[in-house]
Amino acid sequence: MMRNLRNRVFAMLLLLVLASSLTPSVAAADDMTVQRGMDGSSSVNNLPRSTKTIYLTPLTGDDANSGENADNPVKTIEKAAELAGEGGTVIIGSTVTIDKKTDLSNLTLVRSEDMAGTLLHVISDLTLTNVIVDGNNTDNVMPLANVRGEKGSYGNLVMNDGTVFMNSHGTPIRVFYDGKFTMNGGEIKNNEVTSWWGYAGAIDLDQCEVYLNGGEIKNNSSSIAGAVRVGGHGGYCTLNGTKIYGNTGGHGGAFFVQGMLNQTDAPSADANLIIKSGEVTGNTATTYGGAICAIYNGYETNISISGGVIKDNACTKNPTASAVYLATTTTATGTCDFAVSGSPTIEGSIYLMQAPNKVSTIHVTGEFTPTSPLQLYSTALDESTPSVKYDEGVPVNPQSFASEHEGWGFSADGDGLVWCKLKTVSFASSDGNVIYDSVYANADGLVNAADAPSPTAQEGYSLVGWKLKGTADNDLWDFSHDKVTEDNMVLTAVWGLDAPKLTVDAKTTKLHEGSEGTFELVAEPTHQASNVTYTFAWKRNGVAIPGATDATLTTDEPGTYSVAVTASDGLLTSGVAESEEVVCTIEPHALVHHDAVNPTCTKPGNTEYWTCEACGKIFSDDAGEHEITPDDTVIPETGHNWGEDGHCTVCDALDPDFTPAIIAGADATWQKGSSKGLSFTSNAAYGDFLKVQVDGKDVDAANCTVEEGSTVVTLKASYLETLSVGKHALGIVSQTGTAETEFTIAAAAQETLASTGDASTPLATPLLVLASALVGAGALVLRRSRS
Ligand SMILES: [Zn+2]
Ligand SMILES: [Zn+2]
Repeated sequence: MMRNLRNRVFAMLLLLVLASSLTPSVAAADDMTVQRGMDGSSSVNNLPRSTKTIYLTPLTGDDANSGENADNPVKTIEKAAELAGEGGTVIIGSTVTIDKKTDLSNLTLVRSEDMAGTLLHVISDLTLTNVIVDGNNTDNVMPLANVRGEKGSYGNLVMNDGTVFMNSHGTPIRVFYDGKFTMNGGEIKNNEVTSWWGYAGAIDLDQCEVYLNGGEIKNNSSSIAGAVRVGGHGGYCTLNGTKIYGNTGGHGGAFFVQGMLNQTDAPSADANLIIKSGEVTGNTATTYGGAICAIYNGYETNISISGGVIKDNACTKNPTASAVYLATTTTATGTCDFAVSGSPTIEGSIYLMQAPNKVSTIHVTGEFTPTSPLQLYSTALDESTPSVKYDEGVPVNPQSFASEHEGWGFSADGDGLVWCKLKTVSFASSDGNVIYDSVYANADGLVNAADAPSPTAQEGYSLVGWKLKGTADNDLWDFSHDKVTEDNMVLTAVWGLDAPKLTVDAKTTKLHEGSEGTFELVAEPTHQASNVTYTFAWKRNGVAIPGATDATLTTDEPGTYSVAVTASDGLLTSGVAESEEVVCTIEPHALVHHDAVNPTCTKPGNTEYWTCEACGKIFSDDAGEHEITPDDTVIPETGHNWGEDGHCTVCDALDPDFTPAIIAGADATWQKGSSKGLSFTSNAAYGDFLKVQVDGKDVDAANCTVEEGSTVVTLKASYLETLSVGKHALGIVSQTGTAETEFTIAAAAQETLASTGDASTPLATPLLVLASALVGAGALVLRRSRS
């Protein structure tokens, strides 16, 4: 069996050398020589760990042994695990065969320094959880796990979280002869595979199924695949979540894929790599295929990518194969099937070996929307050489692909894309004299607008677009429709005058109601170009105002104003600059109410009225509609209404022109001996009465009575008796003046004749005066004695 395998290996290597004319070599990553201490696994899980170390040598051991040293090893992995305990370490001295269902967890398995052969020979179910499988960096180049079918029993290795395969110089995991490997988690790392045994830095498979669902494969290396070799005989490797990064291989930084020579008991010869999700990043191939190297050798070699991320991989020797290398061996005819669909990320260059009878192409099997165009490189560039083939019914889309060859692109041709030489187009100054740039049109003749240069504009001018040289200025090149039909077409720049910058100086935007003022707005455009003139068009409430075409707008109509301004340099007219809107408003009066005031005899009153606090105007109504003058509000004073007593009947004021008069009793005659007094009535008010005077002398109050009506003074008879016969002057003195009259004292009846003559005698008068004086003196004395 071993001999057969080695023969196959030699055959494959020979084919590889023929295909590439290069000898695979290995570049070790910097951290490939990491040494691991016996307690190195403590970082893998947090369970309490045993520090026990048990020696296991199935070939010579005995489960009755203690297992505690190399001279007393146990025989079975079950016994070793039991003795080592949770977290313990098992030093393996000879191949452990897993021939019945086995679950191992929380254990470290270490290859002993001098052990030969495979570490774990898996022909039944083996599930590893939190198990460190450590190659111990010995010189042994056999696998850490060989998963295979044998005599009707089939190996089935499941690798769960916390499980690590590391530090091996032989391929860590080999899966073949209907074996099965599933990686759900954990790591395969730091394996530097140096022997020709080593096809892969992590996993070598053929005639089996491998599922990479999780975990990481990193920092491994081999002379062929940096991570995984997918071999034939019905080898299937499905990447569906695992991250594969930082690996280095001679052929395929991550994957090497090749259908294998058939053998009599193999179901087929095909090798299949299926990528659904997961990441293939940062891997390096020294010779071909930064991520994937696939070489057709006469047997189906299939890659199918429908998802996942392939990027940032490198191929140091052939950068044109930085992502993928698709080739055919010299002796074979036919190609790999590189099938794509879905929306994967495939960045980097895809190398297509395209020789007669071995024209590698991309095969689109379903709707294909890659996150960026796939970069294709051909070894035999020629128009009509196919580059992409589409399954029937799948839409052909050249935009999904980009050429690694300058001046070449892809054009649709039947059910696929063919390489085509691209036509050039030049971008020139408007006069055609200066060529700014020359670019390739797309295969379909369209020019990418983004490829057009951005020539420096004269101040105040901007590039409007491009036109085919010699056509009209307004016939701009439509990048989405116009096509380059011949090589070396020239597009010339079309310049436009920029729209002006525009502000409006709103000098007056508020008027007071009823004012005589106007709104005034001034458009103030500026432009970077000199020698431009402007055209103005004012709008009120969005509607053009006929005739309003000056920079300044004067109006008395309120509204929302704006102005549209265009600039012209005499040849070109700019676009329109629209100003901001300016609102012009008329403010209403701020009315204050004033109450009506009634007039008096001497003071004017006013009507109710309103004044505006802002403009001071006066209105007769609360709406401010009827303006009036201050005089209009005045209600004149009423004037006094004089009564007969000289007082105003309204305010009681005294009439300055009033003179009291005797209205009854004037010129009366009183005969001595009469018992009745003599009454006089003054028209002065009773309240104004001061005193009574007879012949200029005050009459004692005891000698008269004063009654209301207006003022009725009655000289008492007793008093009158004291007066001399003859005429006497009477005065009723009031505050308003003195009402005067005369009255006559007549002699008693018997004396009348005797005294008639006497009355007119010159002596009589002095006597009368004397008598009056005596009476007055008596009155005075009386008053004093009372007081
Ligand atoms: Zn006002
Ligand atoms: Zn009055």
